[in-house]
Amino acid sequence: MKREKNPACRNVLIYSNRVSDYEYSPSHPFKPARARMMLELLNRYSLFDRNESIIKEPEALKEKHLFYFHTYDYIQVLKKCDRGAYKERWPMHGLGTSDNPVFKGVYDYSVKSAGGTLTGAELILGNRARMVFNPLGGFHHAMRDRAEGFCYINDLVIAIIHLVNSGKRVAYVDIDVHHGDGVQEAFYDMNSVLTISIHESGYTLFPGSGFEYETGEGEGRGYNVNIPLLNYSDDEVYLYAFNKIVPKLLEKFKPDVIVAQLGADAHRTDPLANLNITSNAYGEVVKTINEFAPFIIATGGGGYNPNKAASMWALAWANLTGQKPEDLYAGAVGGMMYGPEKDAGSLYDEPFVLKGTFKDQCMDYAKKIVEYHKNNTFHFHF
Ligand SMILES: [Zn+2]
Repeated sequence: MKREKNPACRNVLIYSNRVSDYEYSPSHPFKPARARMMLELLNRYSLFDRNESIIKEPEALKEKHLFYFHTYDYIQVLKKCDRGAYKERWPMHGLGTSDNPVFKGVYDYSVKSAGGTLTGAELILGNRARMVFNPLGGFHHAMRDRAEGFCYINDLVIAIIHLVNSGKRVAYVDIDVHHGDGVQEAFYDMNSVLTISIHESGYTLFPGSGFEYETGEGEGRGYNVNIPLLNYSDDEVYLYAFNKIVPKLLEKFKPDVIVAQLGADAHRTDPLANLNITSNAYGEVVKTINEFAPFIIATGGGGYNPNKAASMWALAWANLTGQKPEDLYAGAVGGMMYGPEKDAGSLYDEPFVLKGTFKDQCMDYAKKIVEYHKNNTFHFHF
């Protein structure tokens, strides 16, 4: 594989203070500030090696890129909302709801936070990066003509279409606890993009989709892979389901680029979801995805315990760049900024193992999902 000659550009963190400073509303659970917190942790854990990595500002998406996926009408309405003056609801376009509020600068925020993922795609197409991480992106619920689930512009779909138009074979892997429904919809009838999402079942969680039998249609059959898990599933269940399905598919599909949505809300402390995943399983899964990626664009996404999300993204960065986190403040006297004292010195959690009937139910369900894919999805690939 051809790698960037200047090693200074192998890893790129997409970051902008201005974008990170936006706030949906003080009480809104989605916090763009997590990107700044991640950067602070990269410094604290000595993970931002300036010989290997650079920070790049996200470039705002141009209309031609927005229209890869979004409708003209939706973009016009979103643009009007930028002044923050539209107080009435826009039910047609999902705007002005408590999930997707209209705030001053909402258009600017959306085209820049989402733009970072396309900036990443362009760096990779220009062979100027091996890995790009945009913690400001990951808006997998945004639909063609409406905002959904805190997502206004679908950066993932736009970046993938841009890569595919440039002749790249792209696999999308989504480990956010919510189903990546917007990305699924965009590529449902295509076999040029392999779309994989592992998440808490739609029976118990927004957006209520992402069942195993949603496998794509027409040419796309078998190229849309959902791995729903029961609420309470722990690391063991998660790793079992992931490892039985995802590596095999990625190995066969042989992507040029993997676009990975690394939402951190599967974590057991997340207030909006019900899985029992620790940073240990999360870190493992990121490593595995990276092994199959000649080039990779990673994004943030969900993660509503902001400290934990920032720490999981710092761990993801470590695993994507092949580094070991080392706490520069370990043993320092004084309070810890991130998490309780016992977590000092590590981005890894204490192990957590679910026991009893719940565990059996979760594992049985995961086995059923693995069997389903062996019988209904794999034969499109093998
Ligand atoms: Zn989520």
